[in-house]
Amino acid sequence: EGKLYLVPTPIGNLEDITIRAKKVLTEADYIAAEDTRTSGILLEKIGVHNKMLSFHKYNSVQRAPELVQMMKDGAVIAEISDAGMPVISDPGYILVQECIKEDVPVVPLPGPSAFATALIASGFDAQPFTYYGFLPRKASEQKPYFEQMNKAKATSIFYEAPHRLSKTLQTLASVLPVERQIVAARELTKIHEEFVRGTIQEVSEYFENNAPRGEFVILVSPNTEAPKQLSWPELIKLVDGLVDQG
Ligand code: SAM
Repeated sequence: EGKLYLVPTPIGNLEDITIRAKKVLTEADYIAAEDTRTSGILLEKIGVHNKMLSFHKYNSVQRAPELVQMMKDGAVIAEISDAGMPVISDPGYILVQECIKEDVPVVPLPGPSAFATALIASGFDAQPFTYYGFLPRKASEQKPYFEQMNKAKATSIFYEAPHRLSKTLQTLASVLPVERQIVAARELTKIHEEFVRGTIQEVSEYFENNAPRGEFVILVSPNTEAPKQLSWPELIKLVDGLVDQG
């Protein structure tokens, strides 16, 4: 039976490929890859030799129905992106939608993704969180997102390119109080893995002195404004209400 496997690949450390991912990539009829050259190198390193098809954001609308037809005809396709989970700030969404529409089974494999890897070591509450992917580049277009993060009771997570990091942190500081805690998670799973934790101001200063290099995930702490202090009469009323109900 034809089906689509969504296969995560390492975000840096090659040892993060799972046994199952390797098996699925080896046994599939085709591997649909975002960049066949990049993935070719990865597959070579992990010892997978299989046929590749190209599937990227520029050809995905036209290509998705073709791939779905192949799967309806019985082909098993394993989709990978350049790194991490397909669909997460990467192509794949259209193909998944198309498969669901056409009753082709979609089988996701668990595995590495930069945002979840960063979140669990951030020290911020992981429930709830909001993942934004890449924000728009212009400061004016970023601001509404930062206003949302400012009010959020959830941890906010986004991706940023190293050459845009300083400007983005400046914009962040213009919207949020500069003492709000953030984390910059850099080069996860790689040799230069680093967590820079502190206020927006402290993290910005750090990267003024240490040019940002490599790949980044930025996390903004939840808004933990102290809950409103209740007066005694308000408190008694609240407790009475609870007793009445119980
Ligand atoms: N599909 C990927 C995932 O599941 O995380 C994301 C792909 S997106 C095109 C690439 C961005 O993910 C990078 O610009 C960076 O923000 C983030 N990223 C990927 N690998 C990373 C790593 N090892 N450390 C930190 N951030 C990473």
